[in-house]
Order: sequence, then C-alpha cells, then structure tokens
Amino acid sequence: MTILCATCGVESAEPLPETCPICADERQWVPQQGQVWTSTDVLARDGLRIDVVEVEPRLWALTSEPAVGIGQRSLLVQTDAGNLLWDPLGAITDDAVGQVRELGGLAVIAASHPHMFGVQCAWADALDARVLVNARDATWIQRPHERIELWDDEIAPLPGVRIIRFGGHFPGAAVALWEQGSEGDGSLLAGDTMQPKPDRASVAFMRSYPNNIPLSAGVVWRLADQAASLRFRRLYGNIPGQLVEEGPGAVARSAARHIAWVTGEHDDLT
Ligand SMILES: [Zn+2]
Ligand SMILES: [Zn+2]
Repeated sequence: MTILCATCGVESAEPLPETCPICADERQWVPQQGQVWTSTDVLARDGLRIDVVEVEPRLWALTSEPAVGIGQRSLLVQTDAGNLLWDPLGAITDDAVGQVRELGGLAVIAASHPHMFGVQCAWADALDARVLVNARDATWIQRPHERIELWDDEIAPLPGVRIIRFGGHFPGAAVALWEQGSEGDGSLLAGDTMQPKPDRASVAFMRSYPNNIPLSAGVVWRLADQAASLRFRRLYGNIPGQLVEEGPGAVARSAARHIAWVTGEHDDLT
C-alpha cells in the first residue's frame, strides 16, 4: 500500500508530516478542511479505474477515473529499448499494471517536476523501473526509495528520448523530447514547464498555475530560447486534452506575449 496526499497525488513515506510540503508551498494549496491523506488501496477499493489510450502511434495516455490529486494524465512512450512513463499518476491498479506490461512494461519513470511525482515508486516497484528525479528538485521527494536516481541538466534514458532540464516552474522542471513522435517531427512532453492552454495555440509559463504566479520576462525568454533549440511539432501538457499541434510557433508567440505584458508594453489596455 502506498500513502499519498489527496490534493497533489504525491506518494509520501511514514511518518507522515502534518501537512504535505508540496501542497504547503506557494505553488500549490492545502484544502480548507486541512490535509487529507489517502492510499492506493483506498482508491482501488472505491473503484478507481485507469484508462490507457493511444494518442499517437507508440504514445499512450493514462488517466484515472476519478481524477486523483492534480488530475494529470501520464504519457507512456514506447521504444524498442523499453518504455518511458512520464508524469506518473497518483494512482495505480493491477489492471493498469497489466495493460502497461502488455505494452512492453516500463524501463524508466520520470516526472516533469515534483507536482507530477504521483506514486512513481509504486509504479517502479510494480514494473521494475528506474525513477529519475532532477537533482535540483530532490528536496521535494516525499518518499525516498532505492530506485530513485538523480540527474542534472540532461539525460537520454532510452534511444530517441531526451529529458532536458528547463527550470522555471521549478528549478528542476523538465521536458521530455521524443524524437520519433509527431510522425518523425518530434513530440515534446512539456509538463508544466510550458503549459498548453485551451485555445490549443498557446502555452503559459508560470511559477504557479493554481495561484497564478508569473515567471519573469528573463526566465520566459530563456525557456523559449531553449525550446527553440529542440526539433519537435506536437507539444503535450500534463492535463487530459492539453495539446498544441504546432508547438514551436505557439511557444515563440506565447513567450513574446508574456514578456510584452509583464514588461508593461500593454499597460494602456488595463
Ligand atoms: Zn500534497
Ligand atoms: Zn506544477
């Protein structure tokens, strides 16, 4: 059984803290009634289901019903050398483990940032996978585990898969570039590092999404510059449905707009 925070969905080791540190941080929130813990067993007993759906050839989305914690979807990249699970859910079921096993199991689990740790070590134990955590965000690990490996600026855990630190939302905030995605043009799994918005043509760059804390012009410039150095087309966020088909243009336009607003260029409109 794995214990997790009901609000962020991140697994936590006992003894449990009074409040989940990830939710007590200014980027997240603690419910009005106070800290709530749950467990993978309680969620399974209550009938939680995980759906595994192909979103493009060799890329699968895992979502839970009901949503757990922040409600992310996980993305699973299939490669000939093993699979990557990106932004693991805050839930796991025997049925989902079986489905993932049929897809070739898991070689590597990685999260774009600590909000997306989910029950990463529970998935790793179930499918004998490595867990990669960026060294700059290691202090946010709530369940230390021998499977966790720290990495610095970039790691290529599988052929054709690069995990790259961008920073911004968290110092260790990362993206995963899957070079064979988007029919060979590359797919970028961007987590909250650059979050696709409902217009499907823009992304946001924020320190906090729920509490609307923006990043500075300088940091957004840096993130956009780093994205421009990568070859990709589709950009996937971490919430079900979040997708921008033409990622590079959306990132460049969104960065220019963000910078214009935070530097006062549009103050006459306010
Ligand atoms: Zn939490
Ligand atoms: Zn986040």
